Amino acid sequence: MSKVENKKLFIQTLGCQMNDTDSEHIIAELHEHKNYDVTTVMEEADLIIINTCSVREKPVQKLFSEIGQFNVKKKPGAKIGVCGCTASHLGKDIMKRAPYVDFVVGARNISKIKDVVDVKGAVEIDIDHDESTYEFAKLKTSKYRTAVNISIGCDKQCTYCIVPATRGDEISIPPEMLVAQIQKDVDNGAVEVMLLGQNVNSYGRRFSDGRAKSTFTKLLQEISKIDGLRRIRFTSPHPLHMGDEFLEEFVKNPKISKCIHMPLQSGSTKILKSMKRGYSKEWFLNRAKKLKDAIPELRITTDIIVAFPGESDEDYQDTIDVVKELKFDQIFNFKYSPRPNTAALDLKDIEVDDKIASKRLTDLIDLHKEHQSELLARNVGKTIEVFFEDLKSNGEVAGLSDNSLLVFVQGSDELLGKFVNVKIISASRTALKGEIAK
Ligand code: SF4
Repeated sequence: MSKVENKKLFIQTLGCQMNDTDSEHIIAELHEHKNYDVTTVMEEADLIIINTCSVREKPVQKLFSEIGQFNVKKKPGAKIGVCGCTASHLGKDIMKRAPYVDFVVGARNISKIKDVVDVKGAVEIDIDHDESTYEFAKLKTSKYRTAVNISIGCDKQCTYCIVPATRGDEISIPPEMLVAQIQKDVDNGAVEVMLLGQNVNSYGRRFSDGRAKSTFTKLLQEISKIDGLRRIRFTSPHPLHMGDEFLEEFVKNPKISKCIHMPLQSGSTKILKSMKRGYSKEWFLNRAKKLKDAIPELRITTDIIVAFPGESDEDYQDTIDVVKELKFDQIFNFKYSPRPNTAALDLKDIEVDDKIASKRLTDLIDLHKEHQSELLARNVGKTIEVFFEDLKSNGEVAGLSDNSLLVFVQGSDELLGKFVNVKIISASRTALKGEIAK
């Protein structure tokens, strides 16, 4: 008897790491329950899914141009589904604009994917849906790393952000589920975990079974007990929730990577207030300096939005002052872009002129490039421990240090999966080169 071939799924993911994880779940769920295997060739797929982001306008525009192309080039009878944040906020309007779309599944409804995939016209966008205790099938994309969503949604109301409208209120995934999942991944060879959430360090505020509150610090302590797990990373924490207890755990826990993402957004307390971020310039500086003083090798990455409505030259200068003082290792810079369903739309009258906004962004990028070169050059001559995980075609092997420095050495696949001391011999703006230390 000839074997029945599995159907083929092509999936395109836009946006953040949570979307990457959601796509992994979609792939695994559809494989386990609906016999789909992934293909990278859109034209041979029986099902095409685009997992979207709506944090900025560009990915939304990209969605419609991409699915239009997919519809023209897809094989006859292939279905098209739209998932993720844009699915949440546009819902059935996606089908009005693109009637060939078969189903729409919001960012908080991924667990329903296997049920809607065969239902023409299905729209599942309930932002109150509780999937915090749903046991997702899990795709293993890396031999050495795993990523888990620890919470869903966000209780904050940052005035520029569409996420609370697309992912709903924050709900935490029970710690025992997380520990069991990570343990399973470690048993299968993972040495590193990335904990994901819109606001990871407010973890434990609410569980769907009504159990007592917990904290992110407690979760870090629990996860650290897993034997064989060497590194814990997380993103994104909120500066407001970086209290002393969290900072102390971060400093003293050897399994926590000493690279932290601290999204500044603006260095002006006035603008931070208008963004409803809940902290001041001084609080941010105090938290960052406390960590830097305690951990010499600490690296800090950040997000900055320039030209938020009402941002004066002085406010922008406040941001530049913080950047100069802290010298971030990486900055994800954005020019403010108005998003639907956000409170900042009411500030339209005080939006910053686009030419000024562009100039501010360019100046910030240039300043940051100077800092990056200077910071990486400081590593030359040092010996640092690197975990190697990627063999390149040019004979180089790439790996990351505990504080997320990207390091290349000449070597072979014998280095893969090992922690090795490397003497750094040169630095570019974004990576280091070294040789295995004797
Ligand atoms: S903390 Fe603010 S910026 Fe981050 S997801 Fe929540 S509302 Fe958006």
